[in-house]
Amino acid sequence: MTPRAGRGIKPPHAHPCARTRLMQDKPQHFASDNYAGICPEALEAITRASATGSAPAYGDDPWTRLAADAICTLFETQAAVFFVLTGTAANALALATLCPPYCSVIASDIAHIETSERGAPEFFSGGSKLLTPPCPDGKLTPEAIRLCRRKASSPHASEPAVVSITQPTENGLVYTLEEIRALAEVCKEYGLKLHMDGARFACAIAALGCTPAAMTWEAGVEALSFGGTKNGMAVGDAVVFFDRSLARGFAERAKQAGQLASKMRFITAPWLAMLKSGAWLHNAEHANASARQFAQAVETIPGVQIAWPVQSNAVFLLMPEQAMNSLRARGWRFYTFFGAAARFLFAWDAQSAAIEALAADIRACMAQLPAPSP
Ligand SMILES: *Cc1c(COP(=O)(O)O)cnc(C)c1O
Repeated sequence: MTPRAGRGIKPPHAHPCARTRLMQDKPQHFASDNYAGICPEALEAITRASATGSAPAYGDDPWTRLAADAICTLFETQAAVFFVLTGTAANALALATLCPPYCSVIASDIAHIETSERGAPEFFSGGSKLLTPPCPDGKLTPEAIRLCRRKASSPHASEPAVVSITQPTENGLVYTLEEIRALAEVCKEYGLKLHMDGARFACAIAALGCTPAAMTWEAGVEALSFGGTKNGMAVGDAVVFFDRSLARGFAERAKQAGQLASKMRFITAPWLAMLKSGAWLHNAEHANASARQFAQAVETIPGVQIAWPVQSNAVFLLMPEQAMNSLRARGWRFYTFFGAAARFLFAWDAQSAAIEALAADIRACMAQLPAPSP
C-alpha cells in the first residue's frame, strides 16, 4: 500500500506517553524515510547554487555535469547518467527504455513497481507487462525467473525482456553479491536486461560494505535507479545506465514525461555535495544503525515479533492489531505492509531518543493489552 497523500502530520495528542513528552515542538516519525527533512549537505548545496545567480536551465549547467561525473567516479565507469524527480519516474522510464512494449518485466510480487507505482512502468513503456512470481521473502530468485520464462514462452504471451530487483528489498532485505550474480547469470542466459531499483541503494552499500561497482555492473546489473530523496535530499533520483548504448531514448522519454527539471541545478548540486562529502554513505550508515538500535530495543518486548531480519534501515513488527491502534492513538504514524506487519523506516536524521521513545510506547501498548483468556 502506498501512503495516502495530503494528510498532514497532526501534532501528537496531549497524552502522557513517551512520544508527547519528547517531541512537542519537533515531531519525528518513522513511517517512512521520506518523512525526513533535507540533510545539511544537500540544503547548503541548494543555497550555494542559488547564490550564484543565473545558470543555464534543463541540466546544461556545471553542477549537473559534475554530479554526473561524480556518479561515474563513484561507480568507476563511464555510465550514462540522468536525473529525474521521483523514484517512480526513474523506474518507469528506465524500464520503458529497456523493455519493448510487447515484452514483460519480471519482478518480485512485493516490488515497488508492482505494488506502488500505479502502473507507471506499464504506462510509460506503452504496453509491457509485469510478471510477478510470488517471492516468499521478497527476493527474486533464478528459479522464479526460469518459471516466468517457461510460462511466457508462447508467441501469444509477453516475452520477458527485463528483470528488476529492488536493493534493499521492500521488506528491508539485502541481496548478497552472490545472489545478484546468480540472477545476472540467468538474465544473460535468456538475454534479459537486469535493472536494479535502488531507492535505498546507499543503505545496501552501507550494509554490505562493498563498492557501488561490485553491487552493480561488476555483478551484471545494467541499469540502476539510484535514490537520492530517501537518502536525505529534497527531491531527485538518478538513473544510471552502465552500458551507455542502453540509454538510447531515455532523455527524450524523460522530457516527454515531464521529468526534465528546468532548474536542474537544485537537484544536481545536492547530488554533487552528497557524493563529494560522503554524506550519502554516512546518512545510510546512520539509518541502518538506527534500525538496529530500534530492533534491539523492541526484540525483548513480549508478544512483539520482528518479521524480517534487520539488514538495512527497515524494521517490520508483528504485533496485535489492538496494540497497533493504541500506538497510533499515542500519535505515532506507521504503515502496515506484507502480512500486516508494522513498518518502521529510519532516515539520516533519526534521533536516538525518538527511537527509544517509540520502543517505550510499543512496550507500554503491549503491556496494556488484556491478558489472553485461559
Ligand atoms: C520510495 C521508493 C521508490 C520511489 O518512490 P517515489 O515516491 O516515486 O519517489 C521506488 N522504489 C522503492 C523500493 C521505494 O521504496
